[in-house]
Amino acid sequence: MMQWNKRNIAAFLLCTWYILSGKLRKVKKRAARGEFILSVYFHYPSRALFEYCVRWFTKNGFRVIGLDELEAVARGEKPFPTSAVVLTADDGWRSNLDSIVPVANAYKVPVTIFASTRPIETGEAYWWSYIAAGGEKGLTKQSVSALKHVPNAERLAEVSKVRAGLELPREAMTIEELQQTSRSGYVHIGSHTVTHPMLTACDDDTASYEISESGKILRNWLSKEVPYFAYPNGAFTERDIRLLKAHGYRMAFSTEQTYVTPDNIKNIYAIPRFDVLETVSFTENLCRMTGVWFNR
Ligand SMILES: [Zn+2]
Repeated sequence: MMQWNKRNIAAFLLCTWYILSGKLRKVKKRAARGEFILSVYFHYPSRALFEYCVRWFTKNGFRVIGLDELEAVARGEKPFPTSAVVLTADDGWRSNLDSIVPVANAYKVPVTIFASTRPIETGEAYWWSYIAAGGEKGLTKQSVSALKHVPNAERLAEVSKVRAGLELPREAMTIEELQQTSRSGYVHIGSHTVTHPMLTACDDDTASYEISESGKILRNWLSKEVPYFAYPNGAFTERDIRLLKAHGYRMAFSTEQTYVTPDNIKNIYAIPRFDVLETVSFTENLCRMTGVWFNR
């Protein structure tokens, strides 16, 4: 939830100034000239936030393109589009069912949700939720950010220790909900690994498992191909790109906060994305999703 704290007020004022000084107009013009595609990702937006973003794009002449079209552009099979945006969401949050899914279908805009399969399969919360809640209860001394940088086996051991002493409600969709979502028409499912590790903290076997198994599980659940992937926390190396290619993925998304340009789209396993946050003002998110915030 958004709170009007000092940080958000300051950012709101700054973004209001950016908008008044014409920075959004400039982004629209540059996108209309085909200088770049906007690429935006969400986690668990409210319906109001997601609808606000979709409405802004459609009202301002943007066309939401699917990842199949983005891939064709990246491969040079289609010309670089003008006034285009791609929308993605990470993790597979259950709340997406009441926000992203109905809005995507009502506005007929394609969205891809990158889902981690383990929380969907078992009902366990996302691993960082155990660490955050466990920290408050004195069950762990580790922080979420510290655990992103230890070897993956150590992270998993710490998380299962905390999970043994702490029950958290389901945060991810169920398998049935994911299947329904995937059948709904405008929402597509991509892979986001099995357990949401930092791939950079995984040895070769673990990274290979996380990348191949998640795709296999999703294909099995959805009876569809799963050609697209998003790196958890945007972390990856050349090794992970090799693994993605070996396991049949055709395009992958980072969390580098920049525009998709005719030049960087050639790195088809590192498509950048701007993040929209659940905890800041609409005005700031307008500047985030148009890249204005990241090009100050
Ligand atoms: Zn994620």
